[in-house]
Amino acid sequence: MDGGEVEAVIVPCPYVNFGCTEKFTYGEELVHERKCRFAVCRCPAPYCRYSGVYKDLYSHFSANHNDEDYYAKFVCGSFTGARLSINEKILFLQESADGPLVAVQCFAVEEGFYVTVNCIAPSSPGVGEFSYHLSYTTPVGGRKRTMTFKQSEMNRIQRFSSETPEKDFMFVPYDFVGDTDSMKMEICINRR
Ligand SMILES: [Zn+2]
Ligand SMILES: [Zn+2]
Repeated sequence: MDGGEVEAVIVPCPYVNFGCTEKFTYGEELVHERKCRFAVCRCPAPYCRYSGVYKDLYSHFSANHNDEDYYAKFVCGSFTGARLSINEKILFLQESADGPLVAVQCFAVEEGFYVTVNCIAPSSPGVGEFSYHLSYTTPVGGRKRTMTFKQSEMNRIQRFSSETPEKDFMFVPYDFVGDTDSMKMEICINRR
């Protein structure tokens, strides 16, 4: 063989300081980054600047934000009432004091509301793998009308966003909401 040998450059995971010991040849760490169990998640609470590994974030969230209006508990496999205030537009559901954190958000658009459900978690195997089922019964009109929305794989996000989503939302038209200042959804979260 002639010519110089190219030595593979070995780089650590970007989350090495948070405890990940994996190493990669240059470029591969980018593929790993999103799936890393040590990926840093930002606290989604308004004005909170905390960020940390998902497990630490879950404990932080219940310890610091559990007395807020936007905080509620959920039980896997059963329907939980989730009251979304049209002004606050956000509700955080947590399974237990150090358990997975799920964000239910509503976005006002021209014709109604989009409702999204995301788990704050890295996309690692075994972390925050849920499916969910949303149900909304309109208080408008004499006859009860119920809308449902199911997603077999809840999206996992590390960074919470208040930007209007382009996909994976339930659409509730204004006609169904009436002039109440909150929407009472029912949500059932299941492990996959
Ligand atoms: Zn890693
Ligand atoms: Zn926080």
